[in-house]
Amino acid sequence: MVANAWPNDGWTAHLAVGATQTAANGWAESIPFTVPLGTTSLQIQLTAPAGHLLQLAELVGADEPIVPGDWLQLADQPWLYLDGQERVRASAWQAAFLVPNAPQVPVPPGPWRLRTFAFDYDPQSDARQPTATTLDVQVDLMRKPDVHAGTIDLNLCLTGARGITAATAPAHPRVRAALETVVQAWAQVGVKLGQVRYFDVPAPALDVTHDDGTDAQLAALLALAAGQPPGIPIFLLESVDLQTSNGLVPAAGFTAGLPGPLTVGGLRTGLVLALKYDAPDILGVVMAHEIGHFLGLYHTVEAAAQGDVPIADRLPDTPTTPENLMYYAPDPAYLALTPQQGAVVLGGPWVRP
Ligand SMILES: [Zn+2]
Repeated sequence: MVANAWPNDGWTAHLAVGATQTAANGWAESIPFTVPLGTTSLQIQLTAPAGHLLQLAELVGADEPIVPGDWLQLADQPWLYLDGQERVRASAWQAAFLVPNAPQVPVPPGPWRLRTFAFDYDPQSDARQPTATTLDVQVDLMRKPDVHAGTIDLNLCLTGARGITAATAPAHPRVRAALETVVQAWAQVGVKLGQVRYFDVPAPALDVTHDDGTDAQLAALLALAAGQPPGIPIFLLESVDLQTSNGLVPAAGFTAGLPGPLTVGGLRTGLVLALKYDAPDILGVVMAHEIGHFLGLYHTVEAAAQGDVPIADRLPDTPTTPENLMYYAPDPAYLALTPQQGAVVLGGPWVRP
């Protein structure tokens, strides 16, 4: 496996690690894989049927605990582990994990192992229930030493909202302005815009509900990108509503995966953006911000309940003030990105070297 890990001397290699099974307590047995010499980053992707929520419970690389095996027992919820050097976030149907997502996380070559955890969530009752399921595990390896530049491709998926279609989008002033904002923001860390493709998609509805869980409307929408060439699917809709424990909340946009899984047309692969926020027009800053999540970035500072201490990201060079693209409330006046934010996304599989 090690000898053949870099076919055609390329920068990426795919490992089909295989299937694993979680028990009724949600935990699976540890499964091994090998990280070859020269690997600079990797993305783990878990897939399961029936919309179970999938989480990385443990990750050990050559005896280094990257995601410590006791975090889930100690945590008060299984969604998000924000306190470790490597952060992990659960998602339904398919979950992806970019390693490293902070500069202090090592990627040693040698034998690695991971454990998965699966659970179900009921937004009505806010109940979480561990579940038994079969998961497919794949690992995509990247070899990008000393990379300071890269390219992303975008697939704009157009529902006809606001009259924007594949035919009209390339010259549409709002789309052009948004793409210019994306170019301006991401150029700061060496990420260029490559191909921008335009697709008409039949929208099942012009709004989407999303509960970080099993929303079928969201899954059906994202599946419309199936068959497109590799590119970040970006759906433009009139409005986007998120299902939260406080009911439906309107949003300017979100990404279904942090980071985005590599399956184009997959049920967690893509961004969904609302067009209704046009005065002022925030489409560009929201698109640039959600691309950051899709490429593996967390907020520089998470929104905190009143009285709580805000939680900062794990990147030492990001500010805790609003002057950054990945602040939890993005502002068109602040598009700044830092070198360490650039290093995370340049290491990921969606950025071509
Ligand atoms: Zn955000």
